[in-house]
Amino acid sequence: MERCHSRSPRWGTCLCGTALLLCALGGAAQDTRDSRAYRYLKQHFDQVRAIDTHDHLRPFELLGGVRETDHGKGMNLAGLWADSYFPWCNALTPWKPGMSFEAWWGEAKDDFDNARAMSFYQYMLPAFQDLYGVDFNRISDAQAATLDRRIFNHYQRRDWVLEVVTQRANIEWMLIDPNWNRLGQTPAWPFEVLVFNVTTLGKGFHPSQFKSEGDNPYAFAAKQGLAATTLDEYLTVLDKLFAERKAAGAACLKTTLAYERTLQFDPVTRERAEQVFGKTAEAVSAEDRKAFEDFIMWRLCELGAKYELPFQIHTGQARIQGSNPMLLVDLIQANRETKFILFHGGFPWIGEMGVIIQRHWKNVWVDSCWLPTLSYSMAKRAYQEWIEMFPANRILWGADSSHAEGIYGATAFTRQCLAEALAEKVAAGDLSREEALSIGRKILRENALELFPQLRQE
Ligand SMILES: [Zn+2]
Repeated sequence: MERCHSRSPRWGTCLCGTALLLCALGGAAQDTRDSRAYRYLKQHFDQVRAIDTHDHLRPFELLGGVRETDHGKGMNLAGLWADSYFPWCNALTPWKPGMSFEAWWGEAKDDFDNARAMSFYQYMLPAFQDLYGVDFNRISDAQAATLDRRIFNHYQRRDWVLEVVTQRANIEWMLIDPNWNRLGQTPAWPFEVLVFNVTTLGKGFHPSQFKSEGDNPYAFAAKQGLAATTLDEYLTVLDKLFAERKAAGAACLKTTLAYERTLQFDPVTRERAEQVFGKTAEAVSAEDRKAFEDFIMWRLCELGAKYELPFQIHTGQARIQGSNPMLLVDLIQANRETKFILFHGGFPWIGEMGVIIQRHWKNVWVDSCWLPTLSYSMAKRAYQEWIEMFPANRILWGADSSHAEGIYGATAFTRQCLAEALAEKVAAGDLSREEALSIGRKILRENALELFPQLRQE
């Protein structure tokens, strides 16, 4: 296919008649990636020591993708894919403990056929290409077997993860959401910045609500010798927990309640919350539970302001009937001292996200973590629309992955997406190359330094 290169720089219009349709169908993105502005920006963005504001990288001993293979226990190709976003909406042949790579690959190699254009698939490709020299789209059976063995060998050493994150992905600091140990995490990696995950605190009307100790504020209270038999005492426990996490180095709060319930948090009186406190789950209606969670959410916002811990809130893709970020606007408007960071660009509600920040820019940021992995094109459009709608120092990014290859892939994908979004702004004459470069640097690094002052002190 012959591509059209005679585009007017101001309007990006294709001028060569017969090739018009071809240009419209995909030449545009490739033209951008061939442009000098794109290459200039991409080269510079690759050199930015990025600050990744959201990942789920566990300590080395607890990594999720590890499998029993016929040559011992370790990470393999099946584990990398299983612990990626690919299986979120594709069938992936399961790995059976002790099976041979050939047996798995014989089935699994067809699993990718319907997903070649999906961002959930494509974000992993830079990792295979850049870290292993393999084009996964055209991989042979022999190359796949070698790739599998190399992955296994790399993960014999913790240093592989360190090297990929700090050198290959060029990440300086990473905020890690410890959703496996929400209240008690200590940093396991030299680049790790603690996040205080408060998701479970709203169900604390009774100690029996908590299954694991790492999520249980009553376990914290017992250790500290604090009583927690009244609502007031429970609120004091939360305050002490905030103080402890802040002293431990936490940079912010995080909630993923959008996976469990609506993001509509109504103002609830203390009397109403007291009616629920102390009851067991059987004695509590769905309305009671929501009222108590809502009451606690407002207290968490107040404590976030008191302890100067910005609040990362998962919005968008989750329980989608209740995760539109617009549902948070009353909460945001009433808590002006709290810094809110709305996650994942609100995907797919990127326009709603834009107007929320345009109206509440003083205390709201958008984190584009995960967004290029959900949809590369939507992420590109979001970056372009957001910098039109609100100041560029309100945008953050994160890889939102749980192993080295996922982190590398999502980081490369984001740098490329940003360079492409901004190069199109340069081509349109809306930004100079230097202005575009400055915006990209802010998103990849400087905005996080401004929002999390402790990173500047480190
Ligand atoms: Zn996440």
